[in-house]
Amino acid sequence: MNYSNTFQEIYNELQNVEDTGHVADYIPELATVNPNQFGVHLTTVGGEHSAFGDSEKRFSIQSIAKVFAFVMAYSRVKSNIWERMDLEPAGTPFNSLVQLEYDKGIPRNPFINAGAIVVCDILVDELASPKENVLSFIRGLSNSHTIDYNPIVAHSEKKSGYRNYALVNLMKSFGNIRNNIDKVMDLYFSICSIEMSCRELADSFLFLANNGVVPHSGEQILSPSRTKRANALMQTCGFYDEAGQFTFKVGLPGKSGVGGGIVAVHPLKYSIAVWSPRLNKKGNSYKGMLFLEEFTTKTELSIF
Ligand code: GLN
Repeated sequence: MNYSNTFQEIYNELQNVEDTGHVADYIPELATVNPNQFGVHLTTVGGEHSAFGDSEKRFSIQSIAKVFAFVMAYSRVKSNIWERMDLEPAGTPFNSLVQLEYDKGIPRNPFINAGAIVVCDILVDELASPKENVLSFIRGLSNSHTIDYNPIVAHSEKKSGYRNYALVNLMKSFGNIRNNIDKVMDLYFSICSIEMSCRELADSFLFLANNGVVPHSGEQILSPSRTKRANALMQTCGFYDEAGQFTFKVGLPGKSGVGGGIVAVHPLKYSIAVWSPRLNKKGNSYKGMLFLEEFTTKTELSIF
């Protein structure tokens, strides 16, 4: 089944909707992106591809990287990862400090900034060369070996990352960060700066639609049970304080990033990545959310 015509149809419809979103500018380098770009790519577990627009253009994946980092930690750590973070929706913005103090430095889930920073702390312990290892993990998933960090974006975020430093310091004060803060934050900012296209994102998330097995290589990344759990977490926690809206309107597990990308997975069927840089007030792609809502409505392909 090729969905390119459906993509074109939805894109045309959305041209009539005013985009009230704004590109993320709290990371100065992200504000330089042309906001009118749009791309979408769907890959089925059987290897069929449908694409539209700027689907081959790389952009900053930002918080979508939290899924890769979490999967790496979840598949490696022998100890109970849930002692260091919870698995409940946050109901607060991605960089909120409020809940973290009440919860004594235990982040609500791995997909908000605090949770991803703990995951980075775990990866610093677990991996011999964390930055190289994460990159080669993502390159292997997507079968795309030129994917890379963008050091300018990482540096731009580091320089303006006051809230993220507040989060890591608060967690360190509660004993939930074991390594040197600069080392952990270097990994965190770096993984957020990774650039990928919609095609590469759709391809790299496909194992989550395929019981944990990467279709092109046959590699088992997570057991089927852990794959279900990773999808459950994306469903409940993938969109910060808009996870309910996404579930209600789109009906797929997914993850967003402030670069304007969203990836969603239909277990046993496909993964889809959409990119539109202007963000709504919750930090999720304004038109990306609308696009996926229309897509799952028209195709009747949500999990519910
Ligand atoms: N790098 C961003 C930050 O830490 C990621 C946020 C996001 O994509 N929601 O603020």
